Amino acid sequence: MATTLEMLWDSVLKKIHEAQYFDEQDFQVWIQKTTLFKIENDSAYVAYRSSITKAIMERQLALFEATLSEEWGNPVSLILIEQKEMEQMMPEVVVEQRTNTLLENKFNPNYTFENFIEGSSNKEAYAACFASCNQGSHPMFNPLMLFGNSGLGKTHLLHAVGNYLHAERPEAKVIYMYSGDFVSILIEAMKTKNIHGNTVDKVKEQLLDCDYFLIDDIQNLQHNSSQEVFFTVYNKLIEKGSQIIITSDIHPKELSNLQSRLISRFTSGLAINISKPGFETSKAILKKKLDGREDLVTDEVLDYLAMSYSSDVRDLEGKLNRLIFQSTLFNPDVIDLKFATEHLGKEPIVEQKNELTMKTIKRSVSQFYGLSISDLEGKSRLKAIMNARHICVYLSRELLHLPYMTIGKKLGKRDHKTIQSSYNRAKDLMQKDQAFEIAVHKIKEKLL
Ligand code: ADP
Ligand code: MG
Repeated sequence: MATTLEMLWDSVLKKIHEAQYFDEQDFQVWIQKTTLFKIENDSAYVAYRSSITKAIMERQLALFEATLSEEWGNPVSLILIEQKEMEQMMPEVVVEQRTNTLLENKFNPNYTFENFIEGSSNKEAYAACFASCNQGSHPMFNPLMLFGNSGLGKTHLLHAVGNYLHAERPEAKVIYMYSGDFVSILIEAMKTKNIHGNTVDKVKEQLLDCDYFLIDDIQNLQHNSSQEVFFTVYNKLIEKGSQIIITSDIHPKELSNLQSRLISRFTSGLAINISKPGFETSKAILKKKLDGREDLVTDEVLDYLAMSYSSDVRDLEGKLNRLIFQSTLFNPDVIDLKFATEHLGKEPIVEQKNELTMKTIKRSVSQFYGLSISDLEGKSRLKAIMNARHICVYLSRELLHLPYMTIGKKLGKRDHKTIQSSYNRAKDLMQKDQAFEIAVHKIKEKLL
């Protein structure tokens, strides 16, 4: 019976394919993988694996019904059913058994595209990963490589690809591996080689049996023989059109532990950098993590965390979790700035590179002129030091709009008149002294 239905559905799909009603890729990816599993009381039940397939087929339902009715010899109406539901309805239908143990679904359910906050620091990486899930049989960019510092969402995106494919295209075979596990599996296989036959070949075979190969933290693939295997598998996967996505904590060209022939291949696809999120993105990430518990924390605290810890999202999240945990111990009405600074007080605060203060201006000016801060604040009337001081005043006015009095206080306790005339002198020198003008621009460039 199953064979008959299978043959019947095959010939329906063949006809539809030949008539070219669908784009070739859509047909191969979405429609070809459906199954006709029951015809009962003039209704034909077809199982689909992805909601995209359902949407595509629903648009052409009359076409499927007409073709099937013709092949079947009787008019039938078509009912679309999700694969999982079909399996429950008809447990006797043998669903393809996957013997490849590397294809296990090991994805963290929280690491989804929906839970990933896009911002200018990561939107290209997000878009490329998402696109890779919805392409036809030929990857647009292969390999796709994501690189960037630790804690910026690379693993999250790999898992998002896995989760998405699992839900939307369950027929796609996805292997996800942390590169350290790749090495362990191979070392294990190498050890058992003489007892159970060449299991390295078996591992290779399993690795090749996939449509997506996601390998995390490639910088840890240090073992030489594993690199050899990886090289072979990599080339074959590219040849057969499987999508490879690689992540790395360091720039591909700095992967000094890897053979150069591997590195040059990695950069032949698309390499995308993920950088640290800006203030708004960090704040949105925190809000996402709070998910319905926003009342627990004041907005000011979110600002404080986003300003102080955004160079590593893992750390940012960790601080929020820590505050939430502390709040269960101390029961404050709300986690406000006072509570937050008290409980994170001992933690080092990462200074924002672009947070501009008089202190950072003084530091940049002194570095530019090779002076110390106390030279700047002191009383020396040497021309170079006087000029450096004028620049400090000028930039504090122009960039921070500070009153003369405040600038004076932070610059060797000078009075407001001295600072005002220093500012006027700087404006004058900007017109007359090219070296002074260049110095101002260079320092400003570094600061902003
Ligand atoms: P990496 O692999 O780059 O070291 P991870 O993917 O492990 O970083 O991310 C660390 C943590 O930060 C994870 O909990 C992840 O969910 C979270 N994270 C990172 N970037 C984002 C983002 N843009 N949106 C939401 N969560 C993020
Ligand atoms: Mg990671």
